[in-house]
Amino acid sequence: MVTTRAAVLRDRSGDFRIEEISVADELRPDEVRVRIVASGLCHTDLLVRDQVLPPALPAVLGHEGSGIVEAVGVAVATCAPGDRVVLAPLSCGRCRNCQSAHPMHCVYWGPLNLRGRRSDGSTVYRGADGEELNGHFFGQSSFSGQVVVPQRSVVKVRDDLDLTLAGPLGCGLQAGAGAVLNVLAPRPGASIAVFGAGAVGLAGIMAARIAGCDPVYAVDLHPGRLDLALELGATHVVDAAEDDIAGQLVRATGGGVDFALDAVGLPQTARSAVDALTMAGAAAIAGSAGSGKDVSLGLTQLMGRSVHGVLEGDTVPALFIPQLMDLHAAGRFPFEKLVRTYDFDDIAAAVKDSESGETVKPILLH
Ligand SMILES: [Zn+2]
Ligand SMILES: [Zn+2]
Repeated sequence: MVTTRAAVLRDRSGDFRIEEISVADELRPDEVRVRIVASGLCHTDLLVRDQVLPPALPAVLGHEGSGIVEAVGVAVATCAPGDRVVLAPLSCGRCRNCQSAHPMHCVYWGPLNLRGRRSDGSTVYRGADGEELNGHFFGQSSFSGQVVVPQRSVVKVRDDLDLTLAGPLGCGLQAGAGAVLNVLAPRPGASIAVFGAGAVGLAGIMAARIAGCDPVYAVDLHPGRLDLALELGATHVVDAAEDDIAGQLVRATGGGVDFALDAVGLPQTARSAVDALTMAGAAAIAGSAGSGKDVSLGLTQLMGRSVHGVLEGDTVPALFIPQLMDLHAAGRFPFEKLVRTYDFDDIAAAVKDSESGETVKPILLH
């Protein structure tokens, strides 16, 4: 048993409270114990806080962790104590989608990442009075100072990358960049519109620039985020408060954009992403505001177009995250511009600034 500090969520829509917890340190053969150095805060953590998504409470959330390997199980071959690592969502490795190099579309993605338990129903996390806490969130629960993760979730970090920056590569950044580079795969010179200039959308905009897209439209409500979008590769910005955004994009491009990324996940943004497409265009829907949200699409508008729902950029994290680190080192994926760091004790401020749009990507320093 190791003791550590964690942000524990006990009440629906309540505060993350810093508590002393214990973490079982007997590792199974394929497990790794990591001392978390930093963790991004993602909107999915807030959807669970509001219980739009599982796991049930009390729980330890957080799923953009980076840290240092402290111990490994006997069958672990991909990392060793002392390694600097970033943690990615879990996948089973055995289903047909995992076997065909689509682990982020694993058949068991939901139970593996959102159940709050290992697959046998156990949890390594316990509160101060010994009660079990749900955890194992996205294979990790990085709002704990110590985590136990399967080796499939562990990706080594380049020596020259600041470890405190790396966590968001495991969720928001790979989600946006992967949706563009892996799923839409635009050719140079293609037009693209990105709805939502948060972490996912801005990663998509950086990826669109890497792919050579031009023009790149960024759509958002927040002027500061639109300025950042321009800095990161957008060629045009559109105020999301204006009327008929899709119609504006169709007129500006003489028939519609080749590609669209919905990084918001609301019915109206998904609809706009599809309505903005030209014939043979493709849209990626990379977010969801939660189950029970439906979108209606015009059947005529769908003719000749395609729509892809994308989870975590449809990446193979062990391959794609190192590619993003290389692009960052080359100055082509400058995601440090999205980030603001907070002391772990200031998690409430990080939540507030994330919700107001003041900070694109908060990172908590443990
Ligand atoms: Zn996330
Ligand atoms: Zn699988």
